[in-house]
Amino acid sequence: MSNILIAGGGFAGVWSAAAAARVRREQGADFSITLVDPGDDLVIRPRLYEPNPERMRVPLARILDPIGVALLPGTVTDVDPERRRATIAHRSGELIKLPYDRLVVATGSSLVRPVLPGADHLHDVDTIEAARALDAHIKGLPDRPAVPGRYTAVVVGAGFTGLEVATELVSRLRAVAEARGAADEVRVVLVERADEVGPDLGPGPRPVILRALDDLGVERRLGVTPESIEPSGLTLSDGSTVPALSIVWTAGMRASALTNSIPGSLDRLGRLKVDEYLQVIGAPGVYAAGDTAAAPADPEGGHDVMQSCQHAGPLGKFAGHNVAADLLGLERARFAAPPYVTCLDLGPAGAVFTTGFERTVRLTGEEGKRRKRTINQKWIYPPADDAAELLPRADHQLVNPMLRPENARSTADSVA
Ligand SMILES: Cc1cc2nc3c(=O)[nH]c(=O)nc-3n(C[C@H](O)[C@H](O)[C@H](O)COP(=O)(O)OP(=O)(O)OC[C@H]3O[C@@H](n4cnc5c(N)ncnc54)[C@H](O)[C@@H]3O)c2cc1C
Repeated sequence: MSNILIAGGGFAGVWSAAAAARVRREQGADFSITLVDPGDDLVIRPRLYEPNPERMRVPLARILDPIGVALLPGTVTDVDPERRRATIAHRSGELIKLPYDRLVVATGSSLVRPVLPGADHLHDVDTIEAARALDAHIKGLPDRPAVPGRYTAVVVGAGFTGLEVATELVSRLRAVAEARGAADEVRVVLVERADEVGPDLGPGPRPVILRALDDLGVERRLGVTPESIEPSGLTLSDGSTVPALSIVWTAGMRASALTNSIPGSLDRLGRLKVDEYLQVIGAPGVYAAGDTAAAPADPEGGHDVMQSCQHAGPLGKFAGHNVAADLLGLERARFAAPPYVTCLDLGPAGAVFTTGFERTVRLTGEEGKRRKRTINQKWIYPPADDAAELLPRADHQLVNPMLRPENARSTADSVA
């Protein structure tokens, strides 16, 4: 039987699997779909800056079992597009060579941790394990000796993730410090190499962001980078030091290393260059989706897709549709990205929702926060335990379904 192989069980991989299963059902076709991931869960990465991050997951089996997609626990270590064969390190320790007819590379991205003296003292929120370690560390601060910087957090990188982490840490630190009557010791410092916060977010939302940082008392150290990290604080490139027991690194993302084993060229983020059908240029039978794919988002404006959840979903749906269509000799669909939006959480100061790549501000404060909550708690969750709910939402032709309130029914309530 022909086999579609999907490497990675994040948003792109799950939606690829669902879209391929949708075509299979519609066509009454008979091919297998196998998804390989080292873990058992879809990790809701965009929520890992929130408190209690261990809740931010959905068992993959609850999504994949109802639609007849096999889950293989393991890591794809190599791909041989000539022989259409992937090497998989199975969780049991066994090395498997798995033939495929079409492959979707959806192995995501990860934070690039710096090479710095003391870098092992850095926290991050890139994986559920790292976010859980940070959460436990913060909750344990009141039990640490009352040294300078006990309730100080330094967040390195004032981009999207750094801003969400810094603003959220204000309330998370306050919650633990207040219990010891030390709320006035809470200090959050944002360190950014550029001369502005949110350098990639552009000037549109910056006034809202700066007002929120001021309201929350988040300090900024701009135009500097860390030179060394110690358990008690860090030294910056201007020679100054900041006593801080909590230092969180958020700067720099790179596509999964599996992209290196696929023929074709990579962009500066390590993403595979794909054609209009999301097939990797130079690797017949191999498609890419999510944070591993460099696809145009708005051909007129010259923007590529962002390494973002909102693009990972649609990329997954197009890739899944196209691998199934390609296998069955049907017409494939040209990738068309949904309209670009951004919703940046600003912790107790609300959130800012923008539209377009120029990021025109549409909602701020509590209104923005309501939108962010709806996105984070409902829209980004693929329906679980229910093929009749999941498969229609896997239709690549739905325009930006994440933004439609009528499609908000999800597993969030039952899983959270
Ligand atoms: C703190 C934080 C906040 C964010 N906030 C937002 C936001 O507000 N909005 C937004 O749009 N985006 C946001 N993002 C980005 C978003 O989470 C990612 O862009 C999105 O998760 C990408 O989806 P993906 O499926 O491509 O990859 P991932 O979610 O990274 O999933 C990849 C999967 O592949 C698996 N995998 C990796 N290597 C292999 C291998 N060799 N073999 C098999 N499986 C493998 C991984 O275990 C993982 O399960 C945020 C990210 C973080 C960390």
